[in-house]
Amino acid sequence: MASRALSDLAEPVRLAALAFVARCKAAGLDVLIYCTLRSEAEQAALFAQGRTVPGVIVTNARPGRSLHNPDATGKAWAFDAVPTRSGAPLWADEDALRRMGECGEAVGLEWAGRWRGALRERVHFQIQNSAGGRHE
Ligand SMILES: [Zn+2]
Repeated sequence: MASRALSDLAEPVRLAALAFVARCKAAGLDVLIYCTLRSEAEQAALFAQGRTVPGVIVTNARPGRSLHNPDATGKAWAFDAVPTRSGAPLWADEDALRRMGECGEAVGLEWAGRWRGALRERVHFQIQNSAGGRHE
């Protein structure tokens, strides 16, 4: 099971995540961070989805190529978040997703909602690390 613990984030990302949640709250948005660290085995299963097993393609990152995967110290450099209302996730609320993305960018995170191509992952935020890992 992937982690949603902020303690599994590398320190710069953990601090940005805290600032992100505070900024969202100030903007009237409740958000839930629902994924931080993802093992390479979990990444492999996710990558297979829509390719070799049924389902929708949700990632282009192979195992070890995602910033959700553990770095040399076992920490992730990415997290996924969704806006919520009364505890219910707003997966399809375009306005809330955009506002959430802008809050992430305002605290220095890279927001995958800006990425071009088929996989605009509006729930995904990251900070590039020196190892040069990729998105998702
Ligand atoms: Zn992600």
